[in-house]
Amino acid sequence: MDKIDETDRATPATEGPAGRDRARAATRSFEESAARLLAPLSRLPWWAKPLRSLVIPAIFIGLGVGARLVAPAPLPVAVAVCAAVTAAAMMLVCRGSSRQMRDVDWSTADPYWNEGAHQVPVGHREVLAQAISRKRARYPAVSGIHPYLLPCPASVEDGSCDHLPCTYIGMVRVAAGHCVVVVGRRAFHMSRQAFEGVVWHEMRHHTGVMRGYGVMQVALGIAGWFAVGYLTFGWPSAIMLWLALAAIAWIHEVICDTSAGRAAGADAICRALAWKAAALRATPLLPRLGHLLTEALAPTHPPSWMRSLVARALVRR
Ligand SMILES: [Zn+2]
Ligand SMILES: [Zn+2]
Repeated sequence: MDKIDETDRATPATEGPAGRDRARAATRSFEESAARLLAPLSRLPWWAKPLRSLVIPAIFIGLGVGARLVAPAPLPVAVAVCAAVTAAAMMLVCRGSSRQMRDVDWSTADPYWNEGAHQVPVGHREVLAQAISRKRARYPAVSGIHPYLLPCPASVEDGSCDHLPCTYIGMVRVAAGHCVVVVGRRAFHMSRQAFEGVVWHEMRHHTGVMRGYGVMQVALGIAGWFAVGYLTFGWPSAIMLWLALAAIAWIHEVICDTSAGRAAGADAICRALAWKAAALRATPLLPRLGHLLTEALAPTHPPSWMRSLVARALVRR
């Protein structure tokens, strides 16, 4: 994804390091770059996520055990090593997001949306415009917030098809200091109010202090498993880590629900959650099984009914 094929460049590379930096800084349109960033979404088989939830802990526990065998250390030193691994993982996660879409010409983002926004229902478009302008006013350090509509592989515009990217509702990806608000066409079938809940929730994940929280969460999901292998606390530490990661992820979701509820109203987030629960019930068996397995192996979201109860309790009317 990050590797750029020289022959794909939209503008010719310039001689010299400074020229190469300039060429790298603005060589791809926003649309092309976002499509590349999100292409894996269309290829993900149902078993990929649960398998990843098993493989990542297995790899890092294995690395931790290997490091312990090669370089055993007294407990204080081992704890310091694990802290250093966590810091390194956080740096790598931050660096990874800053490298994504680093060659995009961001000035093409507005023309892209001006041309394609007519495919999005008017109410949904207004929700996006309002949420983006309010977020930009609140977080001026964000270089830009840009909507991107996932294309349908069969050019069905209304979201009535079942292609994998068309079944997405919405998500936000951070790339090179910008936020990309990704809209899936299935969202066109949600009410405007429920869509508003989704947009505010997703944007909260990637702005302000919650962005740092998310980075720490990913880093702990890597370094924590290394620590389980490297320190000598055995299975209890693996269970404790699983519980801690689940608690951190659930708290993250609840904070974003509450924040979305404060911006768009508790009804908006509860309608979005009810829509999500209904969509999961209607999902074909294998993808649904993949989702349930992933949530059992590496819990990311509390059940929708629980989130609705918490949002109602925490958002003042
Ligand atoms: Zn489609
Ligand atoms: Zn979320």
